[in-house]
Amino acid sequence: MTEDIYTYAVKCRTCRTKFKVQLFESHEKNLFLVDKKDWYCEKCKKEYFGRQTAKLVKAHQAIGFSELEGTRKMVSWAEKIREELINKVDYLKKSLQFENEDERELSGKAFDLFFKEWQEKTEAKWWIDHRKMTVRDISKRVAAISESIKGK
Ligand SMILES: [Zn+2]
Repeated sequence: MTEDIYTYAVKCRTCRTKFKVQLFESHEKNLFLVDKKDWYCEKCKKEYFGRQTAKLVKAHQAIGFSELEGTRKMVSWAEKIREELINKVDYLKKSLQFENEDERELSGKAFDLFFKEWQEKTEAKWWIDHRKMTVRDISKRVAAISESIKGK
C-alpha cells in the first residue's frame, strides 16, 4: 500500500484526539508539519465553524439581518460572505465626502434603503451568488438609489 507512505498521525489541538492525515511533501517536511502545524480533527473543525457562524449570525441580527436559509455548509459560507460585503459597505460609507448637509442626508437615506434590500435576501444562495460584488458595484447601486430618492 503506497498510501501508508503519506499517512501521518497527528493530534487535535483542541480535544487531543489522534487522527491520521495524508501529507505529500518530503518525509522530512512532513514530519515538521506533523510537529509544528495546528491540527484539528473533523469534529472540532465542525464545532469551530458552527461557533464562528453563530457569532456572525448574532452580529448580523444586531444590525437588522435575518438568519439565512440553506444547508449548513451554505449558510456557514454565506455568513462569511455577508460579513465581507457588509464591511465593504461600511468602508464605502466612511470614504465618502460631502459638499453639504443635504448631500450627507441623502446618502444616509440611500444607504439605509440599500441595506433594506440586502436584509430581504435571506437565502444563503443569494449571498454565495453575489460573493464577487465589489465596492464599486455597491457604490453604483447606492448612487442609483440616491437618484431615485431625488426624483421623488
Ligand atoms: Zn478535536
